[in-house]
Amino acid sequence: MIELANHIDGKAQPAASGATLEDIGPATGAVVASIPDSSAEDVDAAVGAARRAFEGPWGRTSTAERADLCDAVADAIEADLDRFAELESLDTGKPIHTARTIDIPRAIANFRFFAGAVRHDQTGAHAMADAINYTVRKPLGVVGLITPWNLPLYLLSWKTAPALATGNTVVAKPSELTPLTASALADVLREVGVPDGVFNVVHGRGVGAGAPLVAHPDVAAISFTGGTATGAHVAATAAGTFKKLSLELGGKNATVVFADADVDAAAAGAARAAFTNTGQVCLCGSRILVQRGVYERFMERFVAAVEAMPQGDPRDAATRVSTVISAAHRDKVASYVALAREEGGTIRFGGGVPDLPPELRGGFYLEPTVVEGLSPGCRTSTEEIFGPVVTVHPFDDEAEALSIANGTRYGLSASVWTSDLTRAHGFAASLKVGMVWVNTWLKRDLRVPFGGTKDSGVGREGGKYSLAFYTEDQNVCIQL
Ligand code: NAD
Repeated sequence: MIELANHIDGKAQPAASGATLEDIGPATGAVVASIPDSSAEDVDAAVGAARRAFEGPWGRTSTAERADLCDAVADAIEADLDRFAELESLDTGKPIHTARTIDIPRAIANFRFFAGAVRHDQTGAHAMADAINYTVRKPLGVVGLITPWNLPLYLLSWKTAPALATGNTVVAKPSELTPLTASALADVLREVGVPDGVFNVVHGRGVGAGAPLVAHPDVAAISFTGGTATGAHVAATAAGTFKKLSLELGGKNATVVFADADVDAAAAGAARAAFTNTGQVCLCGSRILVQRGVYERFMERFVAAVEAMPQGDPRDAATRVSTVISAAHRDKVASYVALAREEGGTIRFGGGVPDLPPELRGGFYLEPTVVEGLSPGCRTSTEEIFGPVVTVHPFDDEAEALSIANGTRYGLSASVWTSDLTRAHGFAASLKVGMVWVNTWLKRDLRVPFGGTKDSGVGREGGKYSLAFYTEDQNVCIQL
């Protein structure tokens, strides 16, 4: 069993109280690690270390030095990709293939991307007849990064890389369900020469460790990714402290398939969108809207594509769908399958627990599940399930598709499948979401604005949006 510590001021430290939590591996249900169950005292120590580091030599490093460090972090993770992937798969239960091809490569890309982004960043100058203004971009100080369990290193690195590249110091609070790669990242940062106190990790629960970080007066910004209900708590806690806040929250994203689409490609894309990471990606297309003329043709191909996804042991390189994160989450997802039946839905595929070998029976597996026949406004069709369950709804025309797609409290993303580009532009413009993919899903350019509208969040991450979040612009006006 792995024994994790907090990383505060370059040292491994247990929680001040000595309390610990068990970290369960979802593949088998076995305990894989023990982690500190930190409290406000640990957060305070980490914030203090981060503040001293910011006021020390780190505050005087050049952009070029910090960019080089980010590149060195990327190189170090890349050299150790297999170990990082194994840790991530062990902790999350995600297929090792997913960890090797999506999570860890993306963490590497995040550090490389933001190294380049700060090297090429520019600020403005505004000339007047008798004066010149120029803008400088300054780091904020100590920033708090709070991340969820579904893409642990992928999302922590998405925040850490721009935060450090722009000169801040960090206190990270990873999900208590998936702490392993955050600690591995802290080790890498130390090895490549990031000074003590610049990157700190406080493990523990949301209420015990996350909330004190949000409330801390010396934390200048919180970047939070997680559920919408938690995001509301974070926003309320932060409100009185006037810190900057970035909230990336839940989603109930539509995949919209028009009759003029390439139905084979749409079915394959919709299956990928629904069940990547066992349906546990905020961007997953968990509602599929299909124009009536191609509904049955689409469904045959879609169900065949789902059936062809091997489910089982995440450690097996062939596995594409595995377990959900915890017993509690499995029960929540299963309760939505029961609700779908109550609400009049028909299970077209899945709906139960897969038949697995004895060594996996302690894990938290559910079959990928396809539900049809539900009203688009019912709870199953509009609430975030965040697991391997997708609902499919026929529609007649564009207006109906739009009304269903926009008919939830969420507004994160959508994926639209059509061969009519004029329709694609118009439909995309009418969707109340932050991100639209046309004839694809989850194709990422790290420069683009990433984030949602409505209850899916506030603010954008990515490229210049992240650089703006982690900095404060200062204008200097010189009388000529
Ligand atoms: P969660 O909200 O339960 O937890 C997220 C993090 O917040 C964890 O580290 C948790 O310990 C911490 N936390 C909990 N309560 C807190 C509090 N009161 N104060 C401060 N921190 C607190 O979310 P989760 O279950 O870990 O993740 C799943 C959710 O994340 C889903 O809703 C999913 O859609 C969302 N998500 C969104 C994005 C995005 O980019 N929009 C990406 C990934 C996941």
